[in-house]
Amino acid sequence: MLRLEKVSAYYGHIQALREVSLEVAGGEIVAVIGPNGAGKTTLMNVISGVVPARGGEVLFDGQVVTGSGPEKIVRAGISQVPERRQIFGAMSVLDNLILGAYHRYGRDGKEAVKQDMAFVFEIFPRLKDRTRQAAGTLSGGEQQMLAIGRAWMAKPQLLLMDEPSLGLAPLLVKEIFRVSAELRDRGMTVLLVEQNARAALDLADRAYVMESGRVVLEGKADELACDERVQTAYLGKRN
Ligand code: ATP
Repeated sequence: MLRLEKVSAYYGHIQALREVSLEVAGGEIVAVIGPNGAGKTTLMNVISGVVPARGGEVLFDGQVVTGSGPEKIVRAGISQVPERRQIFGAMSVLDNLILGAYHRYGRDGKEAVKQDMAFVFEIFPRLKDRTRQAAGTLSGGEQQMLAIGRAWMAKPQLLLMDEPSLGLAPLLVKEIFRVSAELRDRGMTVLLVEQNARAALDLADRAYVMESGRVVLEGKADELACDERVQTAYLGKRN
């Protein structure tokens, strides 16, 4: 579904991505793990069109989308749950969800959007109790639920999740990851960036390890979780 071929990206003269190649097949959850500053967020932003690629190609469903811009990429079926959430704080929970689906009303009709909204409330009952509440007054965990719900409302083929566990208590992290697995079971494809390597490798089918803008390891998530280098660097295991 998604393929990156030797994608590079820069901020001024600083190279943040160095010829990154990766693939996500339909129905998979693929994780990208790595330390601070490895380029994980940049990778997501290049895929969603927010940061331009300088070199290489991003292909979605076989079509080159490099340089298409965020609006077109959302329409193509890629939706991002950004790091630190970026929901519309002054708007209600309900309006945030409706906004997620704004480009679908013409295409899919009101009924389909309504059903997706019902599903969001099914997986996140806490949001149902808070539809009229201003999104900015939700707790951190609830805001993350709303961000995921909003991304689901956009009905993407591919969901990009950037650090969904950031700042959340362990129980909520579990909840978010449980829901992510449920979304996959409903046919969603997910590319997940995470510093919480253990949770990410538990959830994902496959994973990539990034360091200093490069992919340094890749493989099945369960195999990577047993890799000695991964265990020492990311799973806190001592030699
Ligand atoms: P973290 O896990 O800490 O979020 P990351 O792996 O997501 O890190 P990026 O945010 O992609 O890493 O950053 C990669 C590199 O690019 C870092 O060295 C960072 O300082 C740099 N960088 C990121 N955004 C900008 C920017 N807007 N301007 C200049 N440099 C940037």
